[in-house]
Amino acid sequence: MKLICPVCGKTYDKPVQRCECGESVEFERFRGEPYIGRSVWERFWDFWPVEPTLEFSLGEGDTPLVKSKLGEELGVKLYLKNETINPTWSFKDRGTFLAMSHALKAGYKTVGTVSTGNMAASVSAYASRFGLKAKILVSQSASDEKLKAISVYGGEVIRVLGDYGRLYFESLAIGEKLGVYFINSDNPFRIEGYKGIAFEIAEELTPDYVLIPTSSGGLFRGIAKGFIELHESGLIDTVPALIAVQAEGCSPMCTAFSEGKARIERFENPKTIAKAIANPYPPSGNAVLKLLKEFGWKCVSVSDDEILEAQKKLAKEGLFVQPASATGIAALKKMNLPEGAKVVSILTGSGLKTLKGTRAGRIWECPLEGLEGCLH
Ligand SMILES: *Cc1c(COP(=O)(O)O)cnc(C)c1O
Ligand SMILES: [Zn+2]
Repeated sequence: MKLICPVCGKTYDKPVQRCECGESVEFERFRGEPYIGRSVWERFWDFWPVEPTLEFSLGEGDTPLVKSKLGEELGVKLYLKNETINPTWSFKDRGTFLAMSHALKAGYKTVGTVSTGNMAASVSAYASRFGLKAKILVSQSASDEKLKAISVYGGEVIRVLGDYGRLYFESLAIGEKLGVYFINSDNPFRIEGYKGIAFEIAEELTPDYVLIPTSSGGLFRGIAKGFIELHESGLIDTVPALIAVQAEGCSPMCTAFSEGKARIERFENPKTIAKAIANPYPPSGNAVLKLLKEFGWKCVSVSDDEILEAQKKLAKEGLFVQPASATGIAALKKMNLPEGAKVVSILTGSGLKTLKGTRAGRIWECPLEGLEGCLH
């Protein structure tokens, strides 16, 4: 097992969470070949840093790639990777499952995470499934409604009073001291789990562009590493261009990228409807910036209005996603991609998680006696 810091290059031969320089480490690149198997875990067996504990899988991954009509007016071939059908309705389950496999094998009895949304629900659910205890650290302002979807699985939900940004780093330090394994947003095993998205896409087609809603940067790094490993294994000819998509109201990566900076800065007063991608100081921000530069990729930000419009458009195709997950489609409209390009947008999480703020359709009323007229 070898981990490397993508920013300073230092290597580690034990599973540390972050580099001494403060950046998050990642596993060295894997090479392999695909096998025949029921799940993505089995088909890409060579590419995981720990043996997936298949007996505790909840069926995460192996999600559909849906051809979309929304690309037609823009002249591109658009496909939607529907991650909303994962066991807790977001892609986070892929990373949680793999990181939990590591925690179990390494002998941890308790895991933790810092999240108020999809990741919290995912870790709470999988901890119960794996027979581990979970400590879920949430922000002070988290609504009771949101916390229900987390605590129902049995994880211990703890409201932490204080600076939520610092909590990420404090949790890793205190977790190490107490033997609690924290599976935060860019935990190296979590990132490896996200590679499955790239593997599954490549089983069907090689896209020219992939649109990725980006907050901490864990998802972006995972998909990037997945495609790079396929390329280095000789399984695809080219690595697609990856587009990091952020909300204008919280876009620390796009801001640093457009200003040509090598390091992100804290985004002051974040405000967006896309709460799942509103990390003002993303822990993998510098690692993502480095990838964007190295590969000549892009960062695009979109307004709340554009997000809500894209959410509506997706719903009219039958896919109800949360605002964060509609950002890819919102970005596509602004990008002017070449005619005929093959584009995949990652639909990261379900709209049922964020009913508040959704622009609903029209509701009609009809007296039973007048039903014929109403159906006319
Ligand atoms: C977590 C999340 C993201 C962003 O993933 P990061 O790894 O934090 O960049 C995007 N959309 C949804 C719905 C999420 O839950
Ligand atoms: Zn480093």
